[in-house]
Amino acid sequence: MNSLIQKYIKDHKVDGFLITDKANVRYLTGFTGSNGQIFITDKKGEFLTDGRYITQASEEVSKDFSCRFYRKMYKEIAEIVSNKGKTKRLLFEPGALTVKGLNQYKELTKGITWVPLKEEGAALRIKKNRNEINILKKAAKIAHTALEKVLSEIKPGDVEKDIALALEIGMRKGGADGVSFEPIVASGTRSALPHGRASDKKIKSGELLTIDYGSVYKGYCSDETVTVVVGKADKKQKQIYAIVKDAHDMAVDAIKPGVTCVQIDKIGRDHISKKGYGKNFTHSTGHGVGLEVHELPTIASENKQKLEPGMVITVEPGIYLPGWGGVRIEDMILVTDSGHEVLTPTDKAFRSIG
Ligand code: ZN
Ligand code: ZN
Repeated sequence: MNSLIQKYIKDHKVDGFLITDKANVRYLTGFTGSNGQIFITDKKGEFLTDGRYITQASEEVSKDFSCRFYRKMYKEIAEIVSNKGKTKRLLFEPGALTVKGLNQYKELTKGITWVPLKEEGAALRIKKNRNEINILKKAAKIAHTALEKVLSEIKPGDVEKDIALALEIGMRKGGADGVSFEPIVASGTRSALPHGRASDKKIKSGELLTIDYGSVYKGYCSDETVTVVVGKADKKQKQIYAIVKDAHDMAVDAIKPGVTCVQIDKIGRDHISKKGYGKNFTHSTGHGVGLEVHELPTIASENKQKLEPGMVITVEPGIYLPGWGGVRIEDMILVTDSGHEVLTPTDKAFRSIG
């Protein structure tokens, strides 16, 4: 059994752990269906799901777990976690149960104390193993291949939504299960919206174009942002791009085990501030990425956590000028034993296209 899980059980002084976070269930058991839970004691791990998944569970679920199938979810899970009356204290992930769900379980398990996990649920998945890293690399590569094709075909007059669709089709054709999130395709002044979803806007010559997108491959998400100019770039566009690119490169270069997340955040932010755009960099520098597109650690000013080998994080500084536009550059980076490796293959040198 996973050693972190055993540590959680010990640290919280509980008799069992009910895991309901979907990504954690998949991470621990391999099950890819939409409904499943795990009940773990110090002796055993049971995978729980409903009757729709009997075949799928037998194919996917790791042999470390026995499978149980229920008809009435709350009632039967309540019975299972009570473990024939042996459970007095039960650990759960507070971020992965609704208030309604938790109340329903409590109602059905009178006598059991439900103990919230202190760590965030995603902490379990913070360090990636070799297999996960290879999958993440492949996800990034599928995304990159689709992006390059789309970029090579963009011309003034194209509609943002059509670009998002072409990107999605390209990624799926390349082997992706789907998209990590609705692609952000924001051109012209819309590029000043850090999360401007693709709209019906046509791209004009001379405009900035920000594309933030990712593919899902074997359940793992990629995440990358490119900003380009469609047509001929002007001086200011190149200037702002250079500032963001330098901030991005400085932060990436500093990534190695032992450096804290706040240090990484500060490096790029200080550079952008020094150039006079500090207040226009309105979000944190990055985040972990894995089975979910936003995982731990957060690369933000309040996070003193140290980077460790196996973590995969994004670095994505940006400058957003309302009424003018914005530039963001994002890559996925693996923390290695001696430093780092950039997993997103797209060259981030300035470019104009179309
Ligand atoms: Zn992104
Ligand atoms: Zn991101």
